[in-house]
Amino acid sequence: MAMSRRTFINTCLGLGVIAVAGRQAARADVHRERWYLFGTLVDVTISGVSHSDARSMLAALSTELQRRNRDWHPWKPGVMRDINNAIASRAPIRVDRHMAHMLEHVRQLHQASDGLFNPAIGRVVAHWGFHGGTADGWHTPRRDVIDRLIASRPSPMDLQLSRGWLRSTNPDVQIDLGGYAKGYAIDLGRRLIAEQGVEHALINAGGDLVTLGSAPQGVPWNVAIRHPQRAGRIAWLTTVGGEAVFTSGSYERFRESGGRRYPHIIDPRSGEPVRGIASATVVHADPALADAAATALVVAGPGRWRDVADRLDVDLAMVVDDRGRVSLTPAMHDRVRLDG
Ligand code: AMP
Ligand code: MG
Repeated sequence: MAMSRRTFINTCLGLGVIAVAGRQAARADVHRERWYLFGTLVDVTISGVSHSDARSMLAALSTELQRRNRDWHPWKPGVMRDINNAIASRAPIRVDRHMAHMLEHVRQLHQASDGLFNPAIGRVVAHWGFHGGTADGWHTPRRDVIDRLIASRPSPMDLQLSRGWLRSTNPDVQIDLGGYAKGYAIDLGRRLIAEQGVEHALINAGGDLVTLGSAPQGVPWNVAIRHPQRAGRIAWLTTVGGEAVFTSGSYERFRESGGRRYPHIIDPRSGEPVRGIASATVVHADPALADAAATALVVAGPGRWRDVADRLDVDLAMVVDDRGRVSLTPAMHDRVRLDG
């Protein structure tokens, strides 16, 4: 697999965040931790609590996020794989309340995005080589296989949920929450620490982040958005009131063959990797929605992303097209400071 460039986003966003939090780094009540989860580095900053409280809260948060990472992983052994095996063999399977809630939510997001956000196309994503495997000798998948899968129209609307039991009317459905679950998981993490009395925190999962309260010194959390096409930053963004910021990019993970790049986000209408948008950043109060919406805007492409943002109730979005041109929603103009 071609190198993931998420790390660079992470570094850049990290830098942006450090620029705010760093002034207070010496303060005893600012606590930072870093873990490797969700295929990326997760940086957590909490402030306003004692050292010993922070230690136990961060330990609980780490346990929570590790569990969600394992359970909801799109292709490794775990809850998600068991569900997909059950779907393939047309068997019903029990799901917990979080899974039921996520599946209900992704059905709504699928419809609101006019089908562009489609977490039921796991088989197609896997055929393009994005469920593990190695990049060595990689070649584009057989068109007839992709065509057959697309013709069966796998969709989260094929899922039926009743009293904690899940079944699918379409055995070609394979659920891949790779465009959504990180948002849901870090939202759960944020709730967990908020319930324990933390008022100010930032959970930054490789550039996708949730905020709680303000940064140390009471200033808003300011984050740097990485340029999708070159090293460094494209903009500074100011968040308010516990917002989440999620970026999807066709540059983050991709396969390469014959001098062409094939990004990991798939257009569910064609079964082909997306083109046209290099990155989409969404700011929203709901991290899971922000995650899904950023993915959907990349699929929507330069001509349609504003319409899809409206449909998803997203007011704050920034899109960089394949030629590096930046477009913003009207509300986003007040939040970002573009570089250069
Ligand atoms: P993100 O980085 O949030 O944009 O999520 C990308 C991941 O979501 C991919 O690696 C796939 O696992 C999955 N995915 C790919 N295409 C789609 C799509 N059209 N809708 C929903 N999830 C997708
Ligand atoms: Mg996403």
